[in-house]
Amino acid sequence: MNCPRIEVDLSKIRRNTQTVARRLGPREIGVTGVTKAVCGHPAIAQAMLDGGAFGLADARINNVQRLRQAGITCPVTLIRTPMLSQVDEVVQLCEASYNTEIAVIAALASAAIRKDKVHGIILMVEMGDQRDGILPENLADIARQVMKMPGAVLKGIGANFACLSRIAPTASQMASLYDLANEIEGVCGPFLKTVSGGNSANLPWALGSQDTGRINDLRLGEAILLGVEPVSGDRIGGMHTDAFTLIAEVIETGEKPAPFPIALVDPTLAKLRIVPTNGVSTRLILAMGHQDTDVLGLSMPEGCIMIGATSDHLLIGANRSTLRLGSEVRFQMNYKALMHAMAAPDIEVKPLYDLPVKQPRQIQGKSEHLTLV
Ligand SMILES: *Cc1c(COP(=O)(O)O)cnc(C)c1O
Repeated sequence: MNCPRIEVDLSKIRRNTQTVARRLGPREIGVTGVTKAVCGHPAIAQAMLDGGAFGLADARINNVQRLRQAGITCPVTLIRTPMLSQVDEVVQLCEASYNTEIAVIAALASAAIRKDKVHGIILMVEMGDQRDGILPENLADIARQVMKMPGAVLKGIGANFACLSRIAPTASQMASLYDLANEIEGVCGPFLKTVSGGNSANLPWALGSQDTGRINDLRLGEAILLGVEPVSGDRIGGMHTDAFTLIAEVIETGEKPAPFPIALVDPTLAKLRIVPTNGVSTRLILAMGHQDTDVLGLSMPEGCIMIGATSDHLLIGANRSTLRLGSEVRFQMNYKALMHAMAAPDIEVKPLYDLPVKQPRQIQGKSEHLTLV
């Protein structure tokens, strides 16, 4: 089998989605599955949908294209404000997009008219993360302008927390968000269909004891894919944290005098530090490096420690004699390691299916005569 490769247990992605969807359901919060960390991988996206996500979202139009080419027809929202140069593709491939710039919204509306479509606009509000967003005091004015644009329909508002700042949203920030939704409706009249509360960092708030008000959507990537809450890094109860496994092959092995005179890396602290090499008897080199993943985001298998990495080599110390030339070593990944590895051209992504594969549209019919090459 190809190395390095990522094995994806689709049943775990599906069950993670089910778990959050069932917990959020009674609060009338729907799950939008975010596929950007897996580059819009269609089988992973489908597992999110099978688990109860009512739609998908991605930050990049190329990823959305990949979903559409695989025959995925559910609503897809672009969660990064569109580039002016891509408005035609956005209108073609996405039902709606998150927006912060009135000139982009106008361009989307014109593109939609050209294609005889109506494009949904969700206004992203800046509520403290200090990344993208419209300031709350300017929101009503922009909403009013969107209302006047044929080709665009004001679909909702949303906020994003903890992406840049790493600070989890507070209950009062969330209350301000749904107060804003009421205010916009007071000014503009329409019923806002979507009030999107944020990303995986919102789960502790959404599942907490307080009222979740009008928030009816969360955009979840990391929680579904890795089963963790991003701010604390803690596992979310009942969720699988091992849906993804990165597998690399040993290309050099040999007894070397220990301890190794080298700075070792502690992946959990994500910084360099010297760690004792007691018990490590073998130094192994694996065919994988910085070009393939964020090596600081790998968790070492039992009995192994990270020694270091270069662009194409990963050095680990092992106290197990079972690892030989040609052996496969299996790693779990954090979000950053996952994101890089999924985008690495030399890593094969191997979905492990537990349900019959849905036939993509292109090969319906006499598929038994088709040969896979
Ligand atoms: C990446 C992203 C998400 C999903 O974030 P997770 O932490 O992976 O759940 C949601 N919304 C926006 C705008 C994003 O950029």
